[in-house]
Amino acid sequence: MLVNEMVQLGAKRSGIRELFEYGLKRKAEVGADNVFDFSIGNPSVPAPKAVQDLFLQLAERPDTVKVHGYTSAAGAMQVRAAIANNLNRRFGANARPQNIFITCGAAPAVMSTLKAMCVKDAEFVILAPYFPEYQTFIRAVGGKVVVVPPNTEDFDLHVDAVEPYLSAHTQAIIVNSPNNPTGVVYKRETLEALAALLRKKSAEFGHPIYLIADEPYRELVYDGVTAPFIPGIYENTVVCYSWSKSLSLPGERIGYVYVPDTCDDSLDLFYAVTGSARALGHICAPTSAQYVVEACCDNDVMPDVTPYDENRKTLYKALTEMGYTCAYPHGAFYIMLKSPLESALAFSEKAKEFNILVPPCEPFGCPGYLRLSTCVSHEMILKSIPALKALLDSLRLP
Ligand code: PLP
Repeated sequence: MLVNEMVQLGAKRSGIRELFEYGLKRKAEVGADNVFDFSIGNPSVPAPKAVQDLFLQLAERPDTVKVHGYTSAAGAMQVRAAIANNLNRRFGANARPQNIFITCGAAPAVMSTLKAMCVKDAEFVILAPYFPEYQTFIRAVGGKVVVVPPNTEDFDLHVDAVEPYLSAHTQAIIVNSPNNPTGVVYKRETLEALAALLRKKSAEFGHPIYLIADEPYRELVYDGVTAPFIPGIYENTVVCYSWSKSLSLPGERIGYVYVPDTCDDSLDLFYAVTGSARALGHICAPTSAQYVVEACCDNDVMPDVTPYDENRKTLYKALTEMGYTCAYPHGAFYIMLKSPLESALAFSEKAKEFNILVPPCEPFGCPGYLRLSTCVSHEMILKSIPALKALLDSLRLP
């Protein structure tokens, strides 16, 4: 006997991955340069040179136990200290190594945090459009998913719209800024208003409503915009971070959970995150990746976002000039496109005829929209423009 829900989950490929794999097949048929694959969020900027050099140095070191052996479950103490110092230096946080649990990226960070909070009848609020895996994670820990519908006017966070979705069962709200898939970066005032609402509701319900800040795109911001440090705004914030996008290391699986001392029951919450990670088997993130991020934290190695910025500007300008409607992104590496056809799925299928691969946003809780990943080569962006125009023209023909 098997768990049917898990069988279904494993058997069902994500639409994005399916499109990506279709793209690989199509590239073999018509040549890689003739397929415009906007499907997947794999960073296209290479990892900084310092990161590459560090991995090479670690691979060559003979002390295999230190470099490639287990660390303690929460990560090596000096790495946790480097992360805490980095948060203190950059954001005036008051972090100690004991507040940091190193994870295999943001996904296990979010998952362990949800499991830590998932008491009986727990509800978790997510804001559409959302990262589709939130649905999977919340269900997997036994929680109820509560979705705040999207505001397609600007895709911003409208705090008034959140209030009706908070209940006595709400354990946490997940906030993802810079956002996948919209690229929206929530402003400080907006987050302050959300904090005020969460404080009011926490008092009303007699228990804290935590804010889970899922931040793999924190440093991927443009036009002088910065992503506010949410624990400095709302005391009950747990940060789930990852270097997957910022250092272009998604396959190295490295991130952390930061439980600030300001959180209600912070020590128990940290233990619960640790216990959940242990119960889920997510302990001891890759050791060599831990040492790489330790050195990067100390030396403030930052991503080069220029190529993403250029792609974003070029594609947004081209799309809007052609007559497509898109949301202007200030962060991450995605552009949300309003489907010119009523069904985004039908548009995505039509786009395939032009070798354009663009996934519909139904799984993100935003029907009628599609997501273009701009973490691709600039050449691909330039070459895709005539194809995107031909696609739109084909819909206008009688
Ligand atoms: N959260 C968001 C919003 C993401 O977009 C992603 C990956 O694309 C993740 C979490 C998972 O990140 P990681 O690869 O670090 O597990």
